[in-house]
Amino acid sequence: MTTTQAPQQAAQIEVHNPADGRVVGTVPVESAEAVAGTAAQLRAAQPAWEALGPSGRAEWLFKFQEWLLANEQRLGDVLQSETGKTRGDASIEVPMVADLIGYYARNAEKFLSDDHPRAHSPLGKIKKLTTVFRPFPVVGVITPWNFPIAMPGMDVVPALLAGAAVLLKPSEVTPLSAVEFGRGWTEIGAPPVLAVATGFGATGAAVVDNVDYLQFTGSTRTGRSIAVACAQRLIPFSLELGGKDPAIVLADADIDRAANGIAWGGLVNAGQVCVSVERVYVEAPVYDEFVAKLTERVGALRQGKDDRSFKYDVGALATPGQRDIVARHVEEAVAAGARVTTGGKATGEGTFYEPTVLVDVDHSMSCIREETFGPTIPVMKVADEAEAIRLANDSEYGLSATVWTGDAERGKSVARQLEAGAVNINDAIANLQSYALPMGGWKDSGVGARWGGAAGLQKYCRRQAITEPRLKPMKSEPLWYPAKKRNADFAFGLLRLAYARGLRSKLGLGARRK
Ligand code: NAD
Repeated sequence: MTTTQAPQQAAQIEVHNPADGRVVGTVPVESAEAVAGTAAQLRAAQPAWEALGPSGRAEWLFKFQEWLLANEQRLGDVLQSETGKTRGDASIEVPMVADLIGYYARNAEKFLSDDHPRAHSPLGKIKKLTTVFRPFPVVGVITPWNFPIAMPGMDVVPALLAGAAVLLKPSEVTPLSAVEFGRGWTEIGAPPVLAVATGFGATGAAVVDNVDYLQFTGSTRTGRSIAVACAQRLIPFSLELGGKDPAIVLADADIDRAANGIAWGGLVNAGQVCVSVERVYVEAPVYDEFVAKLTERVGALRQGKDDRSFKYDVGALATPGQRDIVARHVEEAVAAGARVTTGGKATGEGTFYEPTVLVDVDHSMSCIREETFGPTIPVMKVADEAEAIRLANDSEYGLSATVWTGDAERGKSVARQLEAGAVNINDAIANLQSYALPMGGWKDSGVGARWGGAAGLQKYCRRQAITEPRLKPMKSEPLWYPAKKRNADFAFGLLRLAYARGLRSKLGLGARRK
């Protein structure tokens, strides 16, 4: 718990460092009325922001990028204080957002420019067609606790560049970094089109009630209830939810790279990454070698609470509850016959849980079926590629996956058989650094996608269709009033000429029109 009172009654949230339990800050719990007021202010400020155009907005985002880079160390301190991350993990976030700003600010003009599609039929050529991208006035962004700067940044930046005002509701577990993020926007003197509303789920629900588009990242359970709330209001939404990402290690893989990559992909950010490797399927001929190498790599990792020193590889878990989920998954697996080759218990200090490798697991176990979101890597031996694919797809989730192989064609072929929104070949988490690609989960892992080149900005826009005559308009059109059979026949004849197959049919010499 992040507060000393029940969430419903708390006036403020006490934020703790999970590595040592220390209180590191407090934020208010914003009421539904306060959220509605903030949304109204954003709504009033948005038209001027939209009017700046993509280049004008990009200039503000470049200033914000400078602010982020100048404050990187301080933001890293705040991040560590509320998450218990290692410095290595904390240092990923600011550069990631700065990189994202660079990409979308440079391309905003191009991605949001009017589109002029060709008419669908020759008869339509008399019209000039235009698709205009007009922002949703207020976009709500609700984020989880695993990347307290990167998560807000990933969605707030494209929404702002699209021309929307943004109401950000960060996780109650890690609100301090988001508050700093909002402070940065104010400090650079930017227009008041970004606001941060802190609080629990009820504050998030108030955000849903007051925005025109909702971008949510979090658990599948909460995502489902948000989808229902958005449906009630008939507002569009995009959901980035949980995952149980499989890794497939084929017998022709470079086993050293696979072991190193899976150790990192499973344990970076203490395993609290939506796209972290959560289960591994290894072809029988290389299973023993892979398990030995993975166990050695994971066993050598340094765990603890560091400052700016980069002294440790694996940090604390974000909450005691998260540590308890990890412990339960390991205990249930061991009770059902699995074996721990390294790690396997909480350290007893803060929320730390040892980096863990589990073998002899099967598909009935919670460590394989449920999202763990912690520092565990369960490994299963499979007979062949087909069994690996079948087991990888045997999940309600479909966020991302990895394939490790020495054969590029085989890697691509396996990727295309996996039920996942992204597949990284011989790498882990790489799709999260590829903003030109869509990042979206399949099945229970989400609806829609963040990023994906132009689509990453256009999703925050309403598409407006505009038609205009190419020729000087007549006083009236043949199909306007009064209705005349001759005109209808003429229009039908043109349509038939354009679409019918074969000369007889084009000339109306086939079946008669009744
Ligand atoms: P969560 O669903 O408990 O909370 C997420 C956010 O939703 C928080 O800000 C919370 O206050 C808010 N919220 C809760 N109830 C709400 C309601 N009824 N209406 C509106 N807002 C509400 O998730 P979490 O525990 O903070 O985060 C962990 C989860 O996030 C994991 O399942 C992880 O896989 C997922 N995640 C997914 C991605 C992705 O891109 N797919 C990325 C990171 C994390």
